[in-house]
Amino acid sequence: MLDINKVRADFPILSRTVNGKPLVYFDNGATSQKPQIVIDAISKYYHEINANIHRGVHTLSQLATDAYEIARGKIQNHINAKFAHEVIFTSGTTHGINLVTNGFASILKPGDEVLVSALEHHSNIVPWQMLCEKTGATLKVIPMNENGELVMAEFDKLLSNKTKIVTVNHISNALGTVNPVKYMIDKAHEFGAAILIDGAQAVPHLKPDVQALDCDFYAFSGHKMCGPTGTGILYGKEAWLNKLPPYQGGGEMIKEVTFEKTTYADLPHKFEAGTPDIAGGIVLGTAVDYLNSIGFENIQKQELELLEYATKRLLEIEGLRIYGTAKEKTSVISFNIEGIHPYDVGTIIDKLGIAVRTGHHCAQPIMNFFNIPGTIRASFSFYNTKEEIDVMVEAVKKAQLMLA
Ligand code: PMP
Repeated sequence: MLDINKVRADFPILSRTVNGKPLVYFDNGATSQKPQIVIDAISKYYHEINANIHRGVHTLSQLATDAYEIARGKIQNHINAKFAHEVIFTSGTTHGINLVTNGFASILKPGDEVLVSALEHHSNIVPWQMLCEKTGATLKVIPMNENGELVMAEFDKLLSNKTKIVTVNHISNALGTVNPVKYMIDKAHEFGAAILIDGAQAVPHLKPDVQALDCDFYAFSGHKMCGPTGTGILYGKEAWLNKLPPYQGGGEMIKEVTFEKTTYADLPHKFEAGTPDIAGGIVLGTAVDYLNSIGFENIQKQELELLEYATKRLLEIEGLRIYGTAKEKTSVISFNIEGIHPYDVGTIIDKLGIAVRTGHHCAQPIMNFFNIPGTIRASFSFYNTKEEIDVMVEAVKKAQLMLA
């Protein structure tokens, strides 16, 4: 059972005011807030062990290297990767996806097919389009239905021996749909295709088990799971990571360099060129520890209660439509009010201290599907409360009165 007051006290920003009102932070899908323990860990790193990693024999360099590798191990355990070297530090989901698409540029041929879902964030569309342009492969789209669910019968039909890789998010950022990724992974493998799961929106809510899922790649960002911005992880199966060429060239990723030929370092360093965000990587480990100390069962219980309560309360408002009514859904509500632009509602409720996201949520194809310019998206975290939802509902009602 979550002691919500205690949890909220972990997050200093939650006690600030915005525009003279107590902050109500419902933009967790964009980025989560950070607990004090994470903020302190960043400062502690720079106070006590700041040095470059994997290079120096001196004590600080060894301390920093050890801390960085301990963090990698924590993340390995958290996602249940078989080997620590299957855990690549990145700057975020976008970086992880581009690392994979860059690698597949040397694998795909004209006539090959890439399947992408209709529910993707632009980060998981554009790199695949660029890959297809480069290689002559064809991009095919797994369609969605009115509830915001992917149509598995259509996915089954699209798969063929031409399919080389499938890419899909675990949870949609725009609608909150939880996709049937296990089914999709097994199906893709039946056709010999690889599959990447964009876990950006999943990792704040659940603990992915990459071995149980059996996905080939799983990408996520640290900043959506209480960690620092500029951090992320790409999990890849060892065999795939060995097969893909390096993404960037530079220091750290080499075995030997001569002007005639360079040989590359072993995993994970082959994909970690240059000085990384060392503090960020270490502190991502702290964030993972923090989330586990709260417990994902508690997180899910609290978020489900918030989702159900907010759905019920928002539907009291006349003319309000919720987009994304999938059976499997996380704590995201995308909605509009008839006749009112989402941006106007967002602007008015910001004056009342409420942070929601308005717009296309980097998922324009979903907005086109519903034929709307965007939505108002409230995305809840375990540190949010029903009282905050009441504040938002009253604010939205006020905005409706002003704008109608
Ligand atoms: N995929 C999804 C589903 C997302 O929600 C996001 C972030 N909104 C991204 C990818 C991109 O993540 P980042 O900007 O941290 O690289």
